[in-house]
Amino acid sequence: DQYTANKLGSKKERTLAMIKPDAVTKVGDIIQMIYDAGLIVTKAKMTKLSWKQAGDFYMEHQSKSFFNNLVQFVTSGPVVVMELMGDEAVSVWRKVLGPTDSGAARKDAPASLRARFGTDGTKNAGHGSDSLASAARELELFFPSTTGHGPSNTAQYSYCTCC
Ligand code: GDP
Ligand code: MG
Repeated sequence: DQYTANKLGSKKERTLAMIKPDAVTKVGDIIQMIYDAGLIVTKAKMTKLSWKQAGDFYMEHQSKSFFNNLVQFVTSGPVVVMELMGDEAVSVWRKVLGPTDSGAARKDAPASLRARFGTDGTKNAGHGSDSLASAARELELFFPSTTGHGPSNTAQYSYCTCC
């Protein structure tokens, strides 16, 4: 089964998923979509981002016209951040999310997460890392590898760094 296929020691990608403030009440449906896509949740927490955390998280967008709206939105309420693991987790999770704009998602990918739970181009329900390098950076922001019990964020495979 999926748990056995993804158990400690197998080589899998990891990615950072965020349920944005507009979709936090849909966390149950969203976790179902994650498992239905063949991914597993290996870490999760609810948190509220500060303006600085959100700006660091979205640093590649600092010069964009939508940056302030974006940071305002993602700091407007709690978010759920998760580490997802599985075969091709980065691209599989982005496929589950659907197109960035929720309106486009409803047209082109009606079963996607953003089509189902997003509102518009900014309020679009979820985030997914866009590459393995982004995933490593974003996982480190929320689940620092120097603390706690769990896999290293830089390893391509999963093993516990403390036991
Ligand atoms: P993603 O990787 O699909 O989330 O898209 P991007 O990395 O390009 O943008 C990050 C986030 O900024 C998106 O998820 C949206 O919340 C927001 N965003 C992106 N492009 C636009 C835009 O053209 N207009 C507005 N208002 N928001 C945008
Ligand atoms: Mg992006």
